[in-house]
Amino acid sequence: MKAIAVIPGKPGSVHLTDLKKPSVNEVPGGRGVLVEVLRVGVDGTDKEINAAEYGNAPPGYDFLVIGHESFGRVVEVGPNVTDLRPGDYVTATVRRPGKSIYDLIGTYDMTTDETYYERGINLLHGFLTEYYVDDPEYIARVPHALKEVGLLLEPMSIIEKGIIQTFEIQKRLKVWRPRRVAVMGAGALGLLASLAFRLRGYEVSVYARTPPPHLKADLLDAIGARYVSLAKTSVLDAAREFGPFDIIFEATGSSQVAFDSMQLVQKNGVLIWTSITGGKGKIEAPGDEINIKFVLDNKLLFGTVNANREHFELAVKDFAHAESEHPGWLRRLLTNPIRGLDGYEDMMRQLTEDKKAIKVFVELKPV
Ligand code: BGC
Ligand code: ZN
Repeated sequence: MKAIAVIPGKPGSVHLTDLKKPSVNEVPGGRGVLVEVLRVGVDGTDKEINAAEYGNAPPGYDFLVIGHESFGRVVEVGPNVTDLRPGDYVTATVRRPGKSIYDLIGTYDMTTDETYYERGINLLHGFLTEYYVDDPEYIARVPHALKEVGLLLEPMSIIEKGIIQTFEIQKRLKVWRPRRVAVMGAGALGLLASLAFRLRGYEVSVYARTPPPHLKADLLDAIGARYVSLAKTSVLDAAREFGPFDIIFEATGSSQVAFDSMQLVQKNGVLIWTSITGGKGKIEAPGDEINIKFVLDNKLLFGTVNANREHFELAVKDFAHAESEHPGWLRRLLTNPIRGLDGYEDMMRQLTEDKKAIKVFVELKPV
């Protein structure tokens, strides 16, 4: 079967390759689930992997099949699979457990192992291929009503984890009631984060470069979030008007913005870092000032990566909520469809060059 792969360490190596079709027997204990892949989204991580800034091939291979934002349909299950059946729509988690205690209790997204295994990213092949096999532990069912937008559940799971952890940590405050939220960046992650915060009733300001009008600003307007362009001002000046913020969700891919955001957190507030900055960039920051404010105002900064099954299930719930409150909104994020795996060059080009794209994704088969 066909697959889109890169050669890790070799920039611009995206190509079409051939893989053996997997079988349900590959998972021990009769627990295999064979899934036909219908749609797969790509993101900044795929861009970095193709730029040779990130990612590793599985042992025994010199290539890595990419794609970690998957949506598919179950076609066959092993004899001991009771939770899924052929015909079910599904998405899959990305990381697979290692050996740390966190991995052993199903929270592999919190692993402390040096080496981590992620499908389509690190040491495991991804989903930009025709079929995959996995254990039901890593597969989440998606209701039929969400089949068109199911490929957005993986990015949404990252946001769910960020939010759930925020509230876990903020239990330290006993009565914390966030009101003002800033989202840094209006890519797919920023837009989905804005949606998640609006569904919870918060006031949301989104900071990104391009001056409106454009689709991203329209989408934010449609859910009652505010879009603020940074074309003419720095994030520090721009945020003065609507900040400081109880929660800042940083998803720009820029460590400058990540550090600037430290100056915009409200007393007792939280800054969530999610950008994967694969480069070696250096920035300047007013260290003393940031430090004293963090201390005197009991502020919090935490990083978050990946997501486990629980977060995928929360993402499904939020999508169902979103469809009832803003029907059709999620579908509008699917701006750049690529037909078939053969379109891999177009896929990478649109991902790197189309500044207006929200989600570039490959449609392998009709949903
Ligand atoms: C993926 C995560 C992954 C992270 C780091 C992101 O693009 O969505 O699942 O953990 O990259 O590799
Ligand atoms: Zn991703």
